[in-house]
Amino acid sequence: MSLADLRSKYRSTFLLSGPASKREVALTFDDAPDANFTPKVLDALKKEGVKATFFVVGNRVEAHPDIVRRMVQEGHVIGNHSYSHANLPKLSNSAFREEITKTDSLIRTYTGYTPHLVRPPYGNIDEDQIRWLSSQHKKIVNWNVDSLDWKGLSTEQVATNVLAHVHPGSIVLQHAAGGAGEDLSGTVNALPEMIKKLREDGVKLVTVPELLDISP
Ligand SMILES: [Zn+2]
Repeated sequence: MSLADLRSKYRSTFLLSGPASKREVALTFDDAPDANFTPKVLDALKKEGVKATFFVVGNRVEAHPDIVRRMVQEGHVIGNHSYSHANLPKLSNSAFREEITKTDSLIRTYTGYTPHLVRPPYGNIDEDQIRWLSSQHKKIVNWNVDSLDWKGLSTEQVATNVLAHVHPGSIVLQHAAGGAGEDLSGTVNALPEMIKKLREDGVKLVTVPELLDISP
């Protein structure tokens, strides 16, 4: 089954956006934490007074625990983005579950909660995995606005990709940490302008649990 078919079959578990009835948008940041870009994203959000949702990779949480502590202290929500950034449908059942549960317990160490939010790497997930996550009371949270920031785009391009496609209820995908040679300065530098424009349009920036009206 294609991802689109899975989304329509598992509508309450597998989400791309929140309700369009509220003038709210959720900024989300994948692949955190790293020592370079994540602190800059946190600085920009703090300056603007915005709380966001970070989908963290377990082995990076182990490498940079202080940055995870900072995210929590500054009021951001943390979701599960697997332990090793695996392409989940390629894994055995047991390897898939371990990617999720190992990262859950790391997140619980810093936040005190077992996260309800999972964002599969590359947005990829299969039907058995959706069913299992659903049985664990998880929501799979993809996005409906893609900044494409991982391509090393300029500040203007990142801001345009977001602002041209965002609408009430949108979940915006950005990245707060890069792989080797990846440049995310476009996404960091686009944040002040993006946030300002959205607020001028009367949009409230919220975390994913606030947007979906669920607990983190
Ligand atoms: Zn990712």
